[in-house]
Amino acid sequence: MNGLPSVEKAILVFSRFPGIGRKSAQRMIHFLLRHEGVEIQPFIDALEALRERVGFCTRCHNLAEGTRCWVCMDPDRLSSLLCVLEEPVDLMAIEKAGIFRGRYHVLGGRLNPLHGIGPDQLHLESLRIRLQEGDVEELVIATNPTVEGEATAHYVAQMAQPFVAKITRLAYGLPMGGELEYLDESTLFQAMEGRRRF
Ligand SMILES: [Zn+2]
Repeated sequence: MNGLPSVEKAILVFSRFPGIGRKSAQRMIHFLLRHEGVEIQPFIDALEALRERVGFCTRCHNLAEGTRCWVCMDPDRLSSLLCVLEEPVDLMAIEKAGIFRGRYHVLGGRLNPLHGIGPDQLHLESLRIRLQEGDVEELVIATNPTVEGEATAHYVAQMAQPFVAKITRLAYGLPMGGELEYLDESTLFQAMEGRRRF
């Protein structure tokens, strides 16, 4: 936007968010400019709190405020059931659907050699250590049904084989390329209920 460098800069910042294109970013900025009464301090405070207080669980790599996340600190979760996921958003989707009473391990991504993501870039070593502890009876692999997600699932299954009696994979009733975080709750429920042996 010629002559409005501050507006242009704000649009660029907003449009970095996933799902927000330039048009949506423009609409948000113009809303803020039109409504002077909109308080921006709560936005700033919320963002600062995110930066300062939210990190990752040292055990499962979920988001956490403190060293352990709320799932790891919950004594009522089954330690015999462990679900492996790509990202914290996938964990949130399963938690929101209320379909799982075990514990989690967040890999922090999926194998993608073309983009330089190999096993060392994911939280696989900490997974191996957890499995070696011997408490896990069923490992549910819930990586996304994409090509990379499938490759990651195979890698995890092979790694887990010596330590876990039962390895299962979510039964997705959707085409390859779907993402867990966008599934509705009933589809997720079916995927979890119908999980099959790897
Ligand atoms: Zn945790």
